[in-house]
Amino acid sequence: MVPDGAIFMVGSVALLAGSVAVALAIFALGSLRRSAKRVAGQVREIRRHPEVGELTPESETGLKTLGVELNHLLGDLRARLRQAAARSGDLLALMDAPSDLALVALDGEWQITAFGRGAVAVTGWPREEMLGRHVEILFAPGSWETILPKLARRSLREAGIAERVRLQRRDGELFPALISLAPAPEGRAATAGFLLVARDLTAERALETRLRESEERHRRLVEGVGDGVFILQGERLVYVNPALARIVAIEREALQGRPFKDLLEAGDLLRTMDIVRRAERGEEGGAGEIACRLKGEAGGAPLEARVAWSRTEFGGRPALIGTVADLTARARLEQVIAASEARLQAILMSTADGILVLGVSSRGGSVVLANRAFCEQFGLPAEDMPGLSEAELAGRLQARVADPARILSFLEEASRPGASPRLEGLEVTVPRRALLDLATGPVRAASGEILGLLFTSRDVTVRLDLEGNLRQGMDDLGRAKSELEGAYRELAEAQKSLAQRNEQLERLNAELKSLDEMKSNLLANVSHELHTPLVSIKGYTEMILKRRLGPLTPEQERGLSVALKNIDRLVEMIDNLLSFSRMEKGETQLHLEDIPLWQVVDEAVEMVGERIKKKNIAVTTEYETDDLMMRGDRTKIGQVLTNLLTNAVKFNKEGGGITIRARKGPRGFLEMEVADTGIGIPAEEQGKIFERFYQVDGSSRRKYEGTGIGLSIVRDILRLHGGSIRVSSEPGQGSVFIFTLPLARVQAGSAARPPAGRGRARE
Ligand code: ADP
Repeated sequence: MVPDGAIFMVGSVALLAGSVAVALAIFALGSLRRSAKRVAGQVREIRRHPEVGELTPESETGLKTLGVELNHLLGDLRARLRQAAARSGDLLALMDAPSDLALVALDGEWQITAFGRGAVAVTGWPREEMLGRHVEILFAPGSWETILPKLARRSLREAGIAERVRLQRRDGELFPALISLAPAPEGRAATAGFLLVARDLTAERALETRLRESEERHRRLVEGVGDGVFILQGERLVYVNPALARIVAIEREALQGRPFKDLLEAGDLLRTMDIVRRAERGEEGGAGEIACRLKGEAGGAPLEARVAWSRTEFGGRPALIGTVADLTARARLEQVIAASEARLQAILMSTADGILVLGVSSRGGSVVLANRAFCEQFGLPAEDMPGLSEAELAGRLQARVADPARILSFLEEASRPGASPRLEGLEVTVPRRALLDLATGPVRAASGEILGLLFTSRDVTVRLDLEGNLRQGMDDLGRAKSELEGAYRELAEAQKSLAQRNEQLERLNAELKSLDEMKSNLLANVSHELHTPLVSIKGYTEMILKRRLGPLTPEQERGLSVALKNIDRLVEMIDNLLSFSRMEKGETQLHLEDIPLWQVVDEAVEMVGERIKKKNIAVTTEYETDDLMMRGDRTKIGQVLTNLLTNAVKFNKEGGGITIRARKGPRGFLEMEVADTGIGIPAEEQGKIFERFYQVDGSSRRKYEGTGIGLSIVRDILRLHGGSIRVSSEPGQGSVFIFTLPLARVQAGSAARPPAGRGRARE
């Protein structure tokens, strides 16, 4: 954009010219002063010279005045010289000071008459070797020849020349230099001379390179920025960067040289161009900006843009350099940022973890943000949080925890650079008891710079309490385990002794079994042995009572009748015992047949008829139907009914009642009941009465006779038939024995009992 090194060249020339001008001024002032001194001396001489003689008073006054004037001039020149010297040092200082500025005085023959310290430094030649030598020695071979012709021209020689040439150092090294060769001020030397000022450009070349690099960086920057950049000259675009081409969607090459108005939306054209025109003319000040609309892509919506400019020069002519910011894209971006900020805010506010950001600045930290969860966990009003200083925050947090020292040392640790401490199980007491885990870490900008500190807090009350409970539970469990182990040991010992006991019991059991067998055998044998004589006793007694053996007195008859009754009872008992021992041995066999129910019932009632009558008991039968037929062993079922009726009479009260019921039950069974109005059976005894030899009153002084095997025989017989029995009783109210028997397969109507017997009380 800017012509290569032009500014630098101009600068160098100006500096050189300045140096020369100052040098020349000092030379001039110096020679002027010397001339004035000479004139003053001459005036003095004139006044004192004997040959001059007496002067006329006018001449005397004139000369005096001239002397005074000259003295004034001298004073003035001294002051000016001092001023000039003050500005650039004295002449020598100027000759010697800048190490890269060589001052060389030359006579008319181009021979060196003075060689400044700068010249020594630049060329490497010592001063004393150079005085009197031709200046050509300082030039690269052939260089001096190129200058000579210019110096031959009088006009140029008088005005002085400035040239870029190559000079040569003493060691032969060539270097670029800018020289100025001008006539030395007159009066400086006897002969007319020249002053050569040479500037070593080696360092400046390096500078030039740096400048070029910086220009390149600048160019890249302009090419790379997101905003459009343009240079406008005569309302035409003479430069546009790629971003501007992108924004207006026109090729960069196509934009080059195009009128600026082509970019503008018709509605904004006149207004904008008016301002641009005046800006170019400099009527709008050095810089300005304007919001306007640019044409969008073909057929697209116009773009909102901000155009800013400042006046500059381009190619030596005034121009406007400007930027174009696409506000449409910016607005879209702002929307995106706002949406993302809103999302962030929503997340911050909804998360269950507490979050607090402490901004760090030179004036100390202050709260930038605290989310809802943080405020709630510490019971802090959310609206007070932003701007709260670090110290205030520390104070408030301390007031809400059980152990303020803990949170204080945590906050101190957190503010130490590079530290990211954690604090676990901090107990908060206000607004309610809770346990919190705190953590912190730095918030960094994209550049890595620390912007602040982020604190997070998590409520772990439930977890810690659960952990506590769990630990407690584990302890309890441990204790329980050891107790259990103890118990287990005891159990093992108990089991061992139990096993021993079992062994003993088994032995005992075996003994008992053999005893039981012996008893059963004895019982069977005794019953059998008793049965035969009893039957013969019974037969004889009946024969006597029938008077087959002769007449009987009434007393004899009564006595024998009583004996016969007791013999019958005895036979009955022995029968029971016999069938019991047969049942026990498993020798019982059933002779099944279909029998009308009323028959077996009537036979059994007949069997105990004597005792029923004696106790004045009313017997009632209730059949569901008269033709109920059962299938069973007639003798055995007779025994069941006889035993139940015997008990119903035995445990009944005088004048009591017995009811026999029968109905069809489920699954091909008959359901029968024998109910009495006797003493009843206590609930706790009801389960035991079916066991053999069990009697509710088992004492020797008991009121009711019996063996305690009647019900056990009943149960066994019913079981043999596939039936069962249970009792329902209330002491003092009577008992009901309920049992089941198989129904006959065919219920024959012919088996029905004459209707007269139905439901009739029998005495
Ligand atoms: P026992 O020969 O003693 O009658 P059981 O086996 O027939 O033997 O009866 C056992 C016991 O059950 C009886 O001693 C009696 O205590 C009780 N018991 C049986 N039937 C009745 C009943 N109908 N009323 C009251 N108690 C009865």
